[in-house]
Amino acid sequence: MIPTQFEYVAPATVEEALSLLVQHGDDAKLIAGGQSLLPVLRMRLNAPEVVIDLGGIEELRGIRDDGDAIHIGAMTTHHTVLHDPLVAQHALLLARAEHEVADAQIRHRGTIGGALAHADPAGDLGAPALALGAEFLVVGTGGTRTVPAEEFFVDLFETAIGEDEVLTAIRVPKHTGWGAHYEKFVRVAHQWPIVAVAAAVRVEGGTIREARVGLTNMASTPLRARTVEEALVGQPATEDAVAAAAARAAEGTDPPSDLNGAADYRSHLATVLTRRAVLAAAGA
Ligand SMILES: Cc1cc2nc3c(=O)[nH]c(=O)nc-3n(C[C@H](O)[C@H](O)[C@H](O)COP(=O)(O)OP(=O)(O)OC[C@H]3O[C@@H](n4cnc5c(N)ncnc54)[C@H](O)[C@@H]3O)c2cc1C
Repeated sequence: MIPTQFEYVAPATVEEALSLLVQHGDDAKLIAGGQSLLPVLRMRLNAPEVVIDLGGIEELRGIRDDGDAIHIGAMTTHHTVLHDPLVAQHALLLARAEHEVADAQIRHRGTIGGALAHADPAGDLGAPALALGAEFLVVGTGGTRTVPAEEFFVDLFETAIGEDEVLTAIRVPKHTGWGAHYEKFVRVAHQWPIVAVAAAVRVEGGTIREARVGLTNMASTPLRARTVEEALVGQPATEDAVAAAAARAAEGTDPPSDLNGAADYRSHLATVLTRRAVLAAAGA
């Protein structure tokens, strides 16, 4: 289907984008890579009168060292994040998850900010962002807010970004030297995950000293598997110890039931994928 007619505007700065948002209110929609928004417009699930393209705002692109964190501009493409050396060195889990996002074509157009702002519970980047304790820089006419990942994902396709705000960057705390793995379960290649698990661990002398585990598609938002994390710390990085901790992965979750799988099937998957992800992250 062809989208309903809209006015297209391409601001050159964040300030211009903000004043356009204020001017047009509910009638306006931001567009980044368009990989999620355009299908929505084509299906006429949304019919904005004005589409504000963030593509010309240079300050929203790029990745830089920011002391104890990496600063990733919201308009940085999945492809760039996937191949960035700073990300590989300090936030390997994010690179591992980016590798699993859609296919190469979509990774060249889609952006990290667009994916996180879209907040699809099956999106591959929410769980690693949560597991790594990312912070979201959100700008409105009143200034910049820093939103912790725990507060960013509010509900299905809903985030803490206000209607007249723009997500400008994601700050990912450095996890240098941590092992990482993203285990995604799909029926067909390049699909959204039925369930996926993001795991990062710091292993010293064969013992897991710190662990971060995030779950994709186990609720209406990404979740931290905190009971698993607590159960892993102090344990040897062995198959038996990791399996015992991973068995608790579905605790506190609320997985959906759909044509891809019932909730109890997803709960079982979460335990299996957590075991695989943690073992791979630990290099065991
Ligand atoms: C066939 C297909 C398969 C896919 N498979 C996967 C997959 O397996 N895993 C996965 O994770 N993703 C997948 N995706 C989605 C892909 O990751 C998109 O890149 C992503 O969802 C949206 O990013 P975008 O830059 O294209 O955002 P857009 O589509 O342009 O925007 C998405 C939403 O975010 C809002 N938005 C965008 N940028 C900002 C901003 N800076 N501030 C505030 N709001 C903003 C927009 O208003 C819109 O509501 C798939 C997409 C397609 C088309």
